[in-house]
Amino acid sequence: MALVDRFLAPDSSFQKNFFFLAKRFVAGETTDSAIEAVRALNAQGMSATLDFLGEDVLERDAALKTRDAYIAMLDAIRASGVNTNVSVKLTAMGLLVDEDFALENLVRILEHAQRNSDPFVRIDMEGSVVTEKTLRVFERAYATHKNVGIVLQAYLKRTAGDVERAIELGARVRLCKGAYNEPPEIAYKEMPEIRAHYAALAEQLLTRGNYPGIATHDRELIGTIKEIAKTHNVGNDRFEFQMLYGCRPQLQRDLVAEGYRMRIYVPFGTHWAGYFYRRVLERRENAVFALSSLFRK
Ligand SMILES: Cc1cc2nc3c(=O)[nH]c(=O)nc-3n(C[C@H](O)[C@H](O)[C@H](O)COP(=O)(O)OP(=O)(O)OC[C@H]3O[C@@H](n4cnc5c(N)ncnc54)[C@H](O)[C@@H]3O)c2cc1C
Repeated sequence: MALVDRFLAPDSSFQKNFFFLAKRFVAGETTDSAIEAVRALNAQGMSATLDFLGEDVLERDAALKTRDAYIAMLDAIRASGVNTNVSVKLTAMGLLVDEDFALENLVRILEHAQRNSDPFVRIDMEGSVVTEKTLRVFERAYATHKNVGIVLQAYLKRTAGDVERAIELGARVRLCKGAYNEPPEIAYKEMPEIRAHYAALAEQLLTRGNYPGIATHDRELIGTIKEIAKTHNVGNDRFEFQMLYGCRPQLQRDLVAEGYRMRIYVPFGTHWAGYFYRRVLERRENAVFALSSLFRK
């Protein structure tokens, strides 16, 4: 087994013993620790979306366990009174096992979430192998449960069409650049091109969409988004910025101080290696942050 595979295996000793490396980006291994992290964000004027880490599940039992963890998490959110909704990956719900099975699990979560003060459930977007399936399950769920929304990735060439479809449906979209290594046939690879597409898609969502989530830490892009909103008279209550837990916390606070809405994506759980690995690939500085935690108390 390659070193990276050993590192990514959820039950590896690496994941058991080296959580301190991921601490900056992952809000602990338990629901209690995640709720405490949300409480601290709420105190700073930010809302959150909680993600129970895990993906690419190949067995029904594992998917059912994850679904039940989400149900328990929704109960814990309700009991604690914190301001957060949840984000879910369909491959953790069994999408790679069977599409109908993943839909059933998602619907159970959507129904349970309706008891919460924020009943919204966001479906994260994963690699292009599952883009089409993810969109299909999303649309099937949305037909009966309006408390579900989707993520679209600006680096994919297909996304302008998917944005139009979401606008037509009236569905909520989180727009991000995209975190997976996709081939040039289907994805833009250069940052200026990705930024330009992101801005154009965001303009559509801000002016014609339903409460878009603008997910980026990119100062240049954030400046462009503010300009677009100003030009089209889109009030601060008609969209929200979204950032990842532990990424650019000062920028998160600055935007709140300027009067923008800010939602933080808060991942937690023991299966943190895949998520952490994507953050490190995105920015070498993230590895430095992690390693510097070795020297902090
Ligand atoms: C809330 C949220 C949810 C997401 N959900 C998904 C999803 O469902 N599917 C998916 O594929 N991807 C998702 N992503 C990840 C996303 O696609 C990008 O991979 C990730 O956000 C990096 O792109 P960026 O625009 O934030 O910044 P980058 O493109 O990484 O960086 C742009 C610029 O921002 C600055 N910068 C970025 N990070 C830092 C930092 N830590 N410290 C200092 N400067 C920094 C730098 O100036 C950099 O040049 C999500 C991201 C967010 C914020």
